[in-house]
Amino acid sequence: MSDRYQGFVSSPIGRLFVKNLGLPDPTPLERWTGGDALVDGLVLLGGAGRLTEVLPTTLDGLGIASAPGLDDGARAKALVFDATGITDPSGLVALQEFFTPLMRRLETCPRVVVLGTPPETTTGAERIAQRALEGFTRSLGKEIGRGGTVQLVYVAPAADGAIASTLAFLLSPKSAYVSGQVVRIGAHGSASTDQVDDWSQPLAGKVALVTGASRGIGAEIARVLHRDGAKVVGVDVPQAASELTDLMAELDGDHLVLDITHQDAPQRIAHHLREHHGGVDVVVHNAGITRDKKLANMAEDRWSTVIAVNLTAPELISRELLDAGVVNDGGRIIGVASIAGIAGNVGQTNYATSKAGVIGLVESLRDELDRGITVNAVAPGFIITQMTAAVPFATREVGQRLNAMSQGGLPVDVAETIAWFAGTGSGAVNGNVVRVCGQMMLGA
Ligand code: NAD
Repeated sequence: MSDRYQGFVSSPIGRLFVKNLGLPDPTPLERWTGGDALVDGLVLLGGAGRLTEVLPTTLDGLGIASAPGLDDGARAKALVFDATGITDPSGLVALQEFFTPLMRRLETCPRVVVLGTPPETTTGAERIAQRALEGFTRSLGKEIGRGGTVQLVYVAPAADGAIASTLAFLLSPKSAYVSGQVVRIGAHGSASTDQVDDWSQPLAGKVALVTGASRGIGAEIARVLHRDGAKVVGVDVPQAASELTDLMAELDGDHLVLDITHQDAPQRIAHHLREHHGGVDVVVHNAGITRDKKLANMAEDRWSTVIAVNLTAPELISRELLDAGVVNDGGRIIGVASIAGIAGNVGQTNYATSKAGVIGLVESLRDELDRGITVNAVAPGFIITQMTAAVPFATREVGQRLNAMSQGGLPVDVAETIAWFAGTGSGAVNGNVVRVCGQMMLGA
């Protein structure tokens, strides 16, 4: 399931083709491995606003070196710009003044984060200016190249002290395939500043349920949450029982073999978590299926099974775990949507409906949850797994290239995004749907 095109273009003959035919030229993305520094280089700070004072200390607490300027000839690995002080459109020129001279002074796989104030919490000229930031970051994401990523983070004033976990994710290689995103911190009532004692084990002592954990993205989610210190309880269907039990044994986790669409699945999961683990801290609704057909040829069972697995089961399981009090204080509910649920896709009316419904689940729960419980979702783009290996070659090739990074993502890219949502320090990250799609052109 490797990316053969990427292998080809890095060969000597491939380089010749890329140069002469203007073919897509994907930069190998840096990914994080345990023990690495979060940022391998210097973070340059710019702008002026509410967050200017807390930024250097926050980064320092993460072991990230930052500075207000670059020495002659030096390069920056990341740029963080505090735009919260921009209160009218004329102030937006500060973006051009700061970024333009730096665009040729960035290292490979650079990171850019612009911090703003949620427009809906402001009025008049400030609201216009803050909303304008989105056009800047989304465009820069498409032109930065060389494996770079660009994000806009809207920080509600009450959450100024709760930005560390998000910066740790967005500035590090953990966010390798996440770009052009708009993240909200402290929206929807949650502005918790949960203390993290050890950033290398942000889930120490936590219990994490992962559905569809035997393979693909789910297996990687289980590995990453385990790496971060969680006890993982993996769920999968009987046909996948041996892969599931092997993986959970390897991760010192626990397993539960059941079909999540079965009538008593929510109760069985709740009972298991309560009896064997005293509750659950992180719930990842990863299990999902496709049954593609154009609507004209869509049999009822193709429609119903996709909705049942991808949407109804996450909804009923979340409801049961919340109503039965099995989700611990500070719990995290995380859905797996898809860019198909945002942009739509031919042959996927059933799948896209279910995945847009997962976004609806986030929106319906986010204002209702209490006890510090949050709900967020990832929306993966083209991720190289068994699910996408089944896509015909030509469609797969196009699917992989149609994004700002000209390549497919890896399951670990989705898993790292979920680990950020799951982290103890992410109590103020609530109600977000973040695409893991290399800034795909579809529905952008
Ligand atoms: P996959 O088919 O490799 O794995 C899905 C897992 O879910 C399997 O282990 C399967 O046995 C399990 N599962 C299916 N139905 C189940 C049920 N009824 N009860 C319990 N377990 C069940 O798929 P993947 O590519 O790893 O996808 C994981 C998630 O990511 C899915 O929700 C998928 O829709 C979503 N997604 C994937 C991509 C991609 O490019 N691969 C893109 C967008 C979204």
